[in-house]
Parts: sequence; C-alpha cells; structure tokens
Amino acid sequence: MTITSPGTSTSAATVERPAKPAHRPYRVRVAAVRRLAPSFVRITFTGDDLGDFGVDGLDQRIKVVLPLEATGYDTFPTDDWYASWRALPPEQQNAFRTYTARAARAERREVDVDFVCHGDTGPASAWAGRARVGDELMLIGPDATSGVTGSGVEWSPGDARTVLLAGDETAAPAICSIVEALPVDARGCVFIEIPTAADELDLVAPPGVDVHWLPRRDATSGHGEALVVAVRRWTARYVTAWHHGVEVSEVDIEHDILWDVPQGDDPRGTAVSSDLYAWFAGEAGAIKTLRRFLVSEVGIDRRQVAFMGYWRVGKSES
Ligand SMILES: Cc1cc2nc3c(=O)[nH]c(=O)nc-3n(C[C@H](O)[C@H](O)[C@H](O)COP(=O)(O)OP(=O)(O)OC[C@H]3O[C@@H](n4cnc5c(N)ncnc54)[C@H](O)[C@@H]3O)c2cc1C
Repeated sequence: MTITSPGTSTSAATVERPAKPAHRPYRVRVAAVRRLAPSFVRITFTGDDLGDFGVDGLDQRIKVVLPLEATGYDTFPTDDWYASWRALPPEQQNAFRTYTARAARAERREVDVDFVCHGDTGPASAWAGRARVGDELMLIGPDATSGVTGSGVEWSPGDARTVLLAGDETAAPAICSIVEALPVDARGCVFIEIPTAADELDLVAPPGVDVHWLPRRDATSGHGEALVVAVRRWTARYVTAWHHGVEVSEVDIEHDILWDVPQGDDPRGTAVSSDLYAWFAGEAGAIKTLRRFLVSEVGIDRRQVAFMGYWRVGKSES
C-alpha cells in the first residue's frame, strides 16, 4: 500500500540485462501559464527530451522536482535517481511532489500539469503560484524508450460497465483525463469536490456519465465532506443486492500512505459488484472514510475499486 517511486519501477526487468527504468528525469522550462480557475493553474512545460515522454494519459502520475535555492539541480542524481537522492545529505536533496500529467504532446515536446494553488505552505504550490514563462523545473515521468507502458497509471476498469469516480481538487486533473478517455457508451457518475463554485472546469463526458462538481460550503467545511455525502447517496441508489461488507485493515494515515488499489487476482473481498469499477482519490482522511464505508459497510469487491490518498491535511508529502 505505497506509492511506487517512479524512478524505481522496473516491471519489465529481464534476467539477462536490467531493464531500462520506466521513468526518468526531464529538464523542462515553462512555456505557458494559464489560470484555469481561482484554484487551478495550468503550466505547460517544454523540453528537448519531452518527445520521449511516454504518457499514457488517464491518472498518469509524475514527480515535480523543485530547484534548490542556491544550486538548482546541480546535486540531483540522474541515474537511479531515487536511491541516489536518498543517499544525499538533506541540504542537497531537492524537494519533490507527486502530480498528474494532465496532457502530453510528444510531437510538440510539451506536457501540461494542472496545479492546485493552496498558497505558500508547500514548495510545489508556492512554485506554481509564481511560475513565469522560461522558469526551469525538472519532471520525472514515463520514458517511452524504456518499452514499459502503464507504469504509474492506476485506472483499470476491466470489463466493468458502470464507473464511479470521486475526488477532490487534487484529483480533478486525473479525473478529467480519465473521463475524456471513456468510451462514448460508458455510463456512471463523477463527483469532484472543489474549493469554490468558480473552480468548476470544462469537462466533456459521454452522455451516460453524470458529472457533479461539489463546491465546499465555505472555507471552514472540511476537505472531503461533500464527497463522502455524495458517494453515500449515490451508493444507496446503486446498490440493490450487494452482500454485507468485510473488515478492512485500518491504515494509519498519519504515518502510512493510503494506496489500496487492485492487485491482479488477489481475493480482496466479496465478489458482488463486478459491474462497477470505482476510483477514489483525494485527501487521505476522506478517502479512508470512503474506503471503510464501501468495503466494510457496503461490501464492494475490492478488486473493483482503487482508493488513493493524494495528500493529507497538515502534512507535507515528504
Ligand atoms: C498520484 C498523485 C497525483 C496528484 N496529482 C495532483 C495534480 O495533478 N495537481 C495537484 O495540485 N495535486 C496533485 N496531487 C496532490 C499533491 O501531490 C499534494 O497536494 C502535494 O502535497 C502538494 O505539494 P506542496 O509542496 O504544494 O505541499 P506540501 O509541502 O506537500 O504540503 C504543505 C501543506 O499544504 C497542505 N496541502 C497540500 N496539498 C494541499 C491542497 N491541495 N489543498 C490544501 N492544502 C494542501 C498539506 O496538508 C501541508 O499542510 C497528486 C498526488 C498524488 C499522490
């Protein structure tokens, strides 16, 4: 139940020769900054190597590596970056955060990332809030020349005929990409909790998929409150004959990352809902509540649902 570090992912390893890592660092610069809504800024990056950026769309996760104030990226290791980065003294360690590649245009060597602007409390949000055309950054993303595809993507609906997606503003980029890729005959429901009504983004969904933007009541309403209510209501209507739930092991979200996604044929609950595939991401406390509700109370088949804590109130990502 961890976020696989992109730089360490080697799912295509062969016995004879170590596989090329599925992800690698890209030096990029800001090509455009566009305010999408009060809480979202889209930054378009360009870089000489971005033609190799093997984005698979959907909820493709990447790392944004922030420059050190004095030395930029001078000490950032390019080979086996994660293990080497961990071995550095703290003052030489660049901060990095996890984001979603909202779009990639390999032919134009461009990648878009939609940042939630939550002020100066975190280095990534602070950087994005001040970004100007020409600023330099480093991304760690999929490498098309590695021959590995799908690494860092969790969306995996299989044969499910109904989809349920729910997330907060940090999951909005992933949800928008996923919805845009749904087949035209898809059906289901999407809930996206956002800070204010003005943060609703343009999103075109197939006709059978209802999209609900859920603005928070005010600045004091808790992250995920509206999401939990909406998912509970939807589930009450959708669930007709599911079995009773099974106990889930609790996740200590203060110390561990909540990342509970389907793993192969692992029997992870009752097989009662194969028609549905559900995907949840956002503030870890809210996702934990949804996980307990759907697995323990409702009895959703855990092979059909991904629960991902994207961030935690009061905690930095690293
Ligand atoms: C797979 C994955 C994909 C993600 N994709 C995106 C994406 O596309 N766009 C995006 O904006 N975020 C995305 N996130 C969430 C993002 O990684 C976190 O919000 C991250 O904490 C931001 O880093 P920071 O440096 O701004 O803040 P941190 O240094 O990590 O945190 C500083 C403080 O800010 C708080 N904080 C962090 N994020 C928020 C927030 N959104 N609102 C309010 N307070 C916050 C923390 O609780 C902490 O108290 C994704 C996360 C994951 C795991």
